[in-house]
Amino acid sequence: MICVDNLQTGRLRNIAHLLGHPAFEYRQHDVIAPLEIAGPIDRIYNLACAASPPKYQRDPIHTFQTCVLGILNMLDLAERKGARILQASTSEVYGDPEISPQPEGYRGAVNTVGPRSCYDEGKRAAETVMHDFHEARGVDIRIARIFNTYGPRMDPGDGRVVSNFVTQALSGKPITIYGDGMQTRSLCFMKDLITGLIALMESQSAGPEPVNLGNPCEFHVNEIARIVREACASHSPIVHSKRSTDDPHQRCPDIGRAKAALSWEPTTSFAEGLIPTIAYFRSELGGVEPELGG
Ligand code: UDP
Repeated sequence: MICVDNLQTGRLRNIAHLLGHPAFEYRQHDVIAPLEIAGPIDRIYNLACAASPPKYQRDPIHTFQTCVLGILNMLDLAERKGARILQASTSEVYGDPEISPQPEGYRGAVNTVGPRSCYDEGKRAAETVMHDFHEARGVDIRIARIFNTYGPRMDPGDGRVVSNFVTQALSGKPITIYGDGMQTRSLCFMKDLITGLIALMESQSAGPEPVNLGNPCEFHVNEIARIVREACASHSPIVHSKRSTDDPHQRCPDIGRAKAALSWEPTTSFAEGLIPTIAYFRSELGGVEPELGG
């Protein structure tokens, strides 16, 4: 197994237990440049790209390059090696959706010129190139549209809703809700997501069509704050600040296709997934400040 990361948001400590294993190799590399690998490859998981809004918005041109040049380079590699390739796409392809839950057939409502566009449009373009390499050149593809995911080994400073709220609750700092907190998200525990990604990659019946992977249990951001505060036994105040530009009002996956094609659905509730997540952040906290967007 070869693991490739430019460490823009990834952390070497997350793979410290694998370094030195004879079947594991790590390469520091940015996928916007072509990747040369000697020998055969049978599977490529293209998970590259910062996914947290404050992180991907810091250098939007690089974010777009990561999505588009990155997938072109990985598709080129897949074609040369005859490998199957899975693209980590995103619920952001639906933008600020007018329907909920979102099935794969929904084409989305995406702003082409907002702060989220570099990521949303980059990921949409990546799906297009995946489709075209499949149609024109017969590359074996899988597209996972990943909804919000959380769990141990997240960077406490990532800037996402779960990492911010847990680190804030654990350190007794104000829990920062952007806007009125009535926007919704559906939160998937990372183990469920990984099971889904592998099922999609290895499925013979799943075709090249995109497949939503996420937990359909939907919460208002206000509820997420309350649940996290209680689970952390915290007395942090909850404060509201400015809503982020183009922040989707609602997000919930329709996972009918994943259920039918992969016999997959999440099995971990938010309350269950929070337990190891809180334990992880508690062990990590040592003066790390969550990154605030808004
Ligand atoms: N959010 C929030 N406070 C935070 C971080 C996020 O209220 O400290 C909100 C954010 O505005 C959004 C939701 O939580 O409505 C999910 O944000 P996240 O950055 O985790 O993911 P995404 O917006 O990409 O779904």
